[in-house]
Amino acid sequence: MLNIINLIKRSLTRRILRKHAIAFNEWHDVTRRIPVLQCLSTTEKVRLRYLSTLFLYKKTFVGVKNLEITNAMQITIASQACLQILNLNIDSFNGWVEIIIYPSAFRVNRNITSADGLVHHENKSLSGEAWDRGPVILSWDNVQHESYRLQAGHNVVIHEFAHKLDMLNGRANGMPPLHPNMPIQIWSKTLSQAYDLLNQKIDNFQHSYINSYASTNPGEFFAVISEYFFTAPDILFQYCPEVYEQLKQYYRQDTLQRLKNRDH
Ligand SMILES: [Zn+2]
Repeated sequence: MLNIINLIKRSLTRRILRKHAIAFNEWHDVTRRIPVLQCLSTTEKVRLRYLSTLFLYKKTFVGVKNLEITNAMQITIASQACLQILNLNIDSFNGWVEIIIYPSAFRVNRNITSADGLVHHENKSLSGEAWDRGPVILSWDNVQHESYRLQAGHNVVIHEFAHKLDMLNGRANGMPPLHPNMPIQIWSKTLSQAYDLLNQKIDNFQHSYINSYASTNPGEFFAVISEYFFTAPDILFQYCPEVYEQLKQYYRQDTLQRLKNRDH
């Protein structure tokens, strides 16, 4: 039975890739402008285009405030989201459909309940957010700014889609579903020690080696270190080699090696 389901799935995937493939010219025009994709090998770029095709087939883009969604915008977002799942699976983004795009940063004014059950009032401007089993919301201004010029440690697309991976097994708490060969204890210990150290440094007014937003909670810590893993793996490795190693195992990518290959 499982074999039949897999066969049907495979034939459907091939049909989507054949009938809905992203036009090569459009793909090339957009992706050549995104620095974070430049270190990929030819094989990885082909795989990324396949995954992005499936992503665009499965997801719906909605523009807010009369924002017209172009193919280039969709490819910009799909290619960076799929960079994260390059060696995972397209099913990692299952369970939700919509990507809502505001022209620029958007304001939220609401009450939210935190994991400990406390209700907080929130009134602030955001560049993106990811809802549990709901949409990913992005500000196009921020996406553009952080996609077409490399900003070490800053990439709102990677940040929000890291939350989506984290939410695959419940709330965004910094613990996405790990692979069978990854002991949960090592992941928890490594990330929580680094998170505590970051908070200590901030409390003592010391220079924090990564964006201090990572100290907000373990969910934000995972999203921010994912931004470093893809945009500045050298910085992440320099300050937290053990954390880098865990992300390398989780994402099944060696972004630092990729960076070294580019520089040689
Ligand atoms: Zn976040």
